[in-house]
Amino acid sequence: MGSPPPSLAAILATHLSGDGATATDPVGPAALAELRGRLEAAARAAVLEADLPGDAGPLRLPKHRIAALLDCERHVLAALSDGLGDGLGEDPRAVALGRLVDVLTGYRVLKGPAARRDLAMGTELIRADAGDRPDAVLNWLDGLTTDERGDLTTELDRRLDRLLAGWPSFDPAWWPRTQEPVALTLADGQVVVSGRLDVTVGGPPTAWPMAVIEVKSGRFSGAALDEQLLYALLVALRDGRAPGLVVTCAALSDGPVAYPVTIAHLRPAAGRLEAALAAAGRLAGGRHRPIERASWRCRPCPAQRSCSTYDGR
Ligand code: SF4
Repeated sequence: MGSPPPSLAAILATHLSGDGATATDPVGPAALAELRGRLEAAARAAVLEADLPGDAGPLRLPKHRIAALLDCERHVLAALSDGLGDGLGEDPRAVALGRLVDVLTGYRVLKGPAARRDLAMGTELIRADAGDRPDAVLNWLDGLTTDERGDLTTELDRRLDRLLAGWPSFDPAWWPRTQEPVALTLADGQVVVSGRLDVTVGGPPTAWPMAVIEVKSGRFSGAALDEQLLYALLVALRDGRAPGLVVTCAALSDGPVAYPVTIAHLRPAAGRLEAALAAAGRLAGGRHRPIERASWRCRPCPAQRSCSTYDGR
């Protein structure tokens, strides 16, 4: 039997050991300039292809849409025209669990190990986050029966118990943050790529390189790694310095998965973003048939009935 994977506490203790002064930048400025140049070119090509009217605002690519565009362009078009927004038709219980786990782990980071982490607290945190905006997760939570709430409570407890085992107390000196927004503006503001980092520590102005911690309510997957590396790319281009480390903590997997960030990680992340920019330009321009690719997205897809690519999965 192999040894268990290191806990998040152990991973961060190693990353934040010493005063950070000797940490080297894993990705140099020339490599970052090359990636920015590639993305600028892709963004300008997307703007040309989209040919949007002057008052249309920028072409926006939030993180969820990047992954969805690369999975199936037609799905994105169908989901958006059905008013499904960035949930893009996913199972509402899974979306709610994901959001509850996000807000409760963020609360745990800021308040420490004794922080409340039950369904009622999670719901109030989501309510506070939503403010006066309509929120599909809140509507779904508010409509649950007593039995459904009991079932959701059990599942939420199980996932948080697994996820938070081995988490440290976050020392204020590490500068822990939650839900940090990160955006990359390209093509003179005509394209905006954005995301939110679940938990971050270190990074400028601290002496330590940044560590980006992503929290998943389900299992670790290749898609989770793609997402992490996209975040690393956005941070690197925003700060002029790549994060030192990305870590994914997934409730249904065994322990955190940590990667030191290198240029070998950022290049494929930039390639995926280039492909998503091209797809966004094509969809916005409306002159090409959207590409169809069967995947897990088919199950909740509004276009399923009329889609010749749907393979029954
Ligand atoms: S059914 Fe599947 S392949 Fe067809 S549009 Fe939807 S997600 Fe794409």
